[in-house]
Amino acid sequence: MSSELRLKKLRGSGGFVMAQVSDDQQRKGNLGGPDLFLAPIGRLDQEKISKYYCNTCEKDYEGSPKIEYESPNEEVAQNLILLERGQYMCTTCGSTIAEYREFQKQNQQADVGLAKPISPSSDQPVISTESTVQPKTQPEIQTFSSQSDPQGSFSSIVGMSVYSSDAKRVGVAKQVGVNSSHQVVLIVTKNDGSDETIEWGKIKKIGEIIL
Ligand SMILES: [Zn+2]
Repeated sequence: MSSELRLKKLRGSGGFVMAQVSDDQQRKGNLGGPDLFLAPIGRLDQEKISKYYCNTCEKDYEGSPKIEYESPNEEVAQNLILLERGQYMCTTCGSTIAEYREFQKQNQQADVGLAKPISPSSDQPVISTESTVQPKTQPEIQTFSSQSDPQGSFSSIVGMSVYSSDAKRVGVAKQVGVNSSHQVVLIVTKNDGSDETIEWGKIKKIGEIIL
């Protein structure tokens, strides 16, 4: 329960940093596996970063990578603001160590306009040989209340349109995961219904294009 900081390894798409992080930041950076990731944590205090590793240089460096960020305050979807977009860059070669995007709902009580709740599957095959037994599970439509999910704004990109770096619409965000080389990726459902895995850094924009 303490707010003490621990030295942790935080992975990015092009390397990792070693930084002092709070329990809360550790929770944010945990995407379900054993590793912690920079992207969902966002911008760290540079003084908290003791060193970093650049995949391009294949070297450890003392201190923090350069952190560049902007605050577009751009409405990327109904009730969803892109607060800040930034990247951690190698001070030697300029490669991106990690990227992040920080979103905020304008109205914390309301759902994001485009996000779709996952409906419970009602088409499970029920094989019943006893005709007198009623199936115990009544279909309840209102049961997907995931209010206890502390992922906050990060998980709310699910269901939104994803655009690649050449501004083409790739599909709809399905989930965030990690590929075999431990890079943060977004799994996107394409228009034809198939899933594609896209590196976080290759994504230009998530949301609807506002003309
Ligand atoms: Zn480098």
